[in-house]
Amino acid sequence: MSKRPPSTSHDDIPQASPKAAYLAHKTEIEAALLRAAESGWYILGREVEDFEREFARYIGDVSAASVGNGTDAIELALRACDVSRGDVVFTVSHTAVATVSAIDRIGAVPVLVDTDPATFTMDPEALAVAIAEVKRSPEFAGARAKAVVPVHLYGHAAAMSEIVELAHRSGLRVVEDCAQAHGGSLDGRRLGTWGDIAAFSFYPTKNLAALGDGGIVVGPDEKMIRRVRAMRQYGWEDRYISATRGFNSRLDVLQAAVLRVRLAKLDAENARRRAIAQRYDEALADTAVQRPVVAAGVHHVYHQYVVRTAGRDELKRHLEREHVGTAVHYPEPIHLQPAYRGSIAVAGQLANTERAAREILSLPIYPQLTDEQVGRIAAAVRAWKGARRPAVGARA
Ligand SMILES: *Cc1c(COP(=O)(O)O)cnc(C)c1O
Repeated sequence: MSKRPPSTSHDDIPQASPKAAYLAHKTEIEAALLRAAESGWYILGREVEDFEREFARYIGDVSAASVGNGTDAIELALRACDVSRGDVVFTVSHTAVATVSAIDRIGAVPVLVDTDPATFTMDPEALAVAIAEVKRSPEFAGARAKAVVPVHLYGHAAAMSEIVELAHRSGLRVVEDCAQAHGGSLDGRRLGTWGDIAAFSFYPTKNLAALGDGGIVVGPDEKMIRRVRAMRQYGWEDRYISATRGFNSRLDVLQAAVLRVRLAKLDAENARRRAIAQRYDEALADTAVQRPVVAAGVHHVYHQYVVRTAGRDELKRHLEREHVGTAVHYPEPIHLQPAYRGSIAVAGQLANTERAAREILSLPIYPQLTDEQVGRIAAAVRAWKGARRPAVGARA
């Protein structure tokens, strides 16, 4: 009998490792899972309410309604803003496809705007142009522009002052996509408190992660959060009586138990991510590989550490040979993906978005990486021939 060789040697550093995150706090996580199992209560209830209260307190002066996953969180947040079929919702093309599928599932019309080339987040000027275009265009005659969904991509805040000001001036609600930004802030104010309402995901690789699916909606308006709470459970306000039409999208009790353990460690883990980012920054300072830009006032929580080079595919292959896993978030802008190409509205050319997709590469940055591993990754990037100045194919 032949055994398949193991797919990874012990030297391999994966790009992400939910397993390492589990092992790091195994005893506490298992105790929480057991406590939830033995409670005998398996849908919503105490465990979920306690997590919602703890998470809301962590974010700030908000209420919270947990749901089944991050995509549902965005959808229900939009519905709580009265977004319905045919309404226009502005967002970016450089994001997880989930941002757009949430809009799509309502039957609303996503309009994709370009990103800022430095921060990879929504460009407020591109948003202003898009809002004006939708107003003018006969294609959108009769459609109501309802909301904007800025994404705090990679853990870096979008330009919220400008976006919120512009959106509110134009009569639009702001739904923050905070799926990659738990604990991040801008000008000392937590992400998730800038817009009218905000959505988080607890997908296993996120900064705050479940051992499965999970999500939450937070916001300052208790009435909107109550609507989410009704929608997530068949539209019930009272048991068995649907006041509105709803769904089934509930945070699992076992996941809530795990999330309570991990929420208490979120700040320490984000601090570790920031320390790793700083080591990468120092190691790459004199190379031709571009480091992430941090805009003024941004407390970056480094969901991803994304470097940029015209030789991206080459760097990726080089790191593979050095046993360093990398990923591209994301390789294809949404407006160019088979499901959406030619059938989704884009405002202008999205040139920054398309260029970014060709040049970006996410290095490993989870908190369980050891200093030795971080050193090895940084050294491997430095050793790539394209890292020497001037870069292979670099801009003049
Ligand atoms: C992960 C993610 C989502 C979706 O979350 P799920 O829990 O997988 O549904 C939405 N938006 C962004 C930016 C994400 O990274």
